[in-house]
Amino acid sequence: MFKETDKDFTFETDVLSKGAYTRYPVTNPEALPIYMTTAFNVEDLEDLQKRYDEKGFCYNRNRNPNRSCLIELISYIENGEDSICCSSGMAAISTAVIALTQAGDHILSDRTLYGESLEIFTDILGKYGVETTFVDFTNLDEVKSSIKSNTKILYTETVSNPMIAVPDLKAIGDIAHENNAYFIVDNTFMTGALVKPLELGADLVVNSLTKFASGHSDAVSGSVTGSKDLIAKCYKLQVLLGSQSDPFSSWLVQRGIRTIELRVKRQAENAAALARALEKSPYVIKVNHPCLADHPQHELAKQQFKGYYGGMLSIVLPEDKDKMNEFMRNLNFAHYAMTLGGYRTTLSYPAMSSHYEVPREERLRMGITDGLLRISCGIENENDLVKDFMDALEKAYS
Ligand SMILES: *Cc1c(COP(=O)(O)O)cnc(C)c1O
Repeated sequence: MFKETDKDFTFETDVLSKGAYTRYPVTNPEALPIYMTTAFNVEDLEDLQKRYDEKGFCYNRNRNPNRSCLIELISYIENGEDSICCSSGMAAISTAVIALTQAGDHILSDRTLYGESLEIFTDILGKYGVETTFVDFTNLDEVKSSIKSNTKILYTETVSNPMIAVPDLKAIGDIAHENNAYFIVDNTFMTGALVKPLELGADLVVNSLTKFASGHSDAVSGSVTGSKDLIAKCYKLQVLLGSQSDPFSSWLVQRGIRTIELRVKRQAENAAALARALEKSPYVIKVNHPCLADHPQHELAKQQFKGYYGGMLSIVLPEDKDKMNEFMRNLNFAHYAMTLGGYRTTLSYPAMSSHYEVPREERLRMGITDGLLRISCGIENENDLVKDFMDALEKAYS
């Protein structure tokens, strides 16, 4: 309790305790206040014990009301028992994989992952004796035959970045469990509003909340969701690593995430409309989006995602830098930004952003050519968005 005495002490003492906010009768504000505090005052030792027993608030690295609120929300959205919320998507991913592995373990991962996730597996875990094999998770035979006796984790993204491939989550979860391995899914591109990997057999689902979940391109945060037991392991490591989401970012994300259902459905509809229009353009070599009938996992995606195929697509343009530059400059709404999932449409060039660190040979093997552009659809009017892309292509390439 913040105490204010009526007695006056010296200026340097009083300036620390005047303005006791506990005197203001603040109850039930309509919006959650931001608890920018490193610690919470404890009355006495009994109170301290009670806080330990009831998972109350003592110190920010362990718990903070803004983070607890976000934990409750993301657990609900992903339909998991519990979550941890982290300082970024990468903090969430590294906390989860480090918590579940030890030297001598093996991870089997999809090969077209988010660039930094690849680097965590190869450059960081590799240093500590955890080996990772990368295979194509849309090929179940390859997944099965790559399992080793020490395989501890199968790891994939719901929709791969940036090729927009769709792995069969239920089938991969079954393979993991038949081999006593955990199945971890990065659901950043879809979010629990469109598909809940935990319901399809994932043991943990990770999210970069920075992207679609928060949706306003103003906060960096991440989460891991799953059973109470697995989250307890992740939480223990999080407290030691200090990978927690700070109060202000947690607050921003809990605000943004309230409208997730409206936003991600509109984004998915816009992506589908744009994919269908671009598919017909004479200037576009290829469009990758699961709504298209020629997408290799279209049928699976139809059943796994129940009609919404996500807000991400990628397109292949002729490998002519000048024309690509002109096309990008011609666009009115979609702008280049090294993020995705925000309410405005953004573009990125994977060869020079997410996969810049990946050796060229390997990058080409993943299908990330020098003509590939990734598009993250916003919530603009569908016709405005499609027309803008068509006009920009026409001006650059005709
Ligand atoms: C952005 C992203 C991450 C990393 O999230 P940060 O919040 O930037 O740390 C991980 N996975 C995917 C699929 C992403 O798009």
